[in-house]
Amino acid sequence: MIYPEQQRRAYLQAMGIDVWVPRDAADPEPVVQADPPDWDELRACVAGCTRCELAETRTNTVFGVGSPDADWLIIGEAPGAEEDRRGEPFVGRAGKLLDEMLRAVGQGRDTVFIANILKCRPPNNRDPKPAEAAACREYLQRQIELVAPRLILAVGRIAAQNLLGSDEPVGRMRGRAHELDGIPLVVTYHPAYLLRSPSQKRKVWSDLCLAARLESEYRA
Ligand code: URA
Repeated sequence: MIYPEQQRRAYLQAMGIDVWVPRDAADPEPVVQADPPDWDELRACVAGCTRCELAETRTNTVFGVGSPDADWLIIGEAPGAEEDRRGEPFVGRAGKLLDEMLRAVGQGRDTVFIANILKCRPPNNRDPKPAEAAACREYLQRQIELVAPRLILAVGRIAAQNLLGSDEPVGRMRGRAHELDGIPLVVTYHPAYLLRSPSQKRKVWSDLCLAARLESEYRA
């Protein structure tokens, strides 16, 4: 994997490492070079991140939970109040429903990896701002590379639209196969929405069956 210099510098900066750039503009290569962060380094980058204003209001960053070798990567929106307090994604009622959804297809918190578009809670649970999602994207991108899942499940509108660069509603994105960096991606409803609209559970079941099928067909 080739890492553009800019991206490498951003990682270094997030880790608090100054990058020395020679004054000679004819030689723009920095003297300090670093490999992209491994799992622990990435976790440290996220824990210390100050890339956006959410750093000022968060209690904890929420890196994600599960197996770094997971076949399934579940991506939600952003931490809520309870997640911010505990530093873990999907721990409220919606989280319990997500656990049930995963159990239905033979998965669990320890076999999948669960992350969010944002690692920090937006105040009052407002939607993530595009600049916040952009600031956080590199972390998620590196998580996708390191986990190298066989299937990505985007839960809810914010996750699906950000990952696919689309403004379509979930109802139009769900029920079919997408791809992100060559990895099959399925969109489904957010469990918080399902708590309000339980009649949609059948569609989620069908999305999960599609996800299981795509995962089993996937050849990395
Ligand atoms: N909703 C999300 O999308 N993510 C969480 O971590 C919690 C609730």
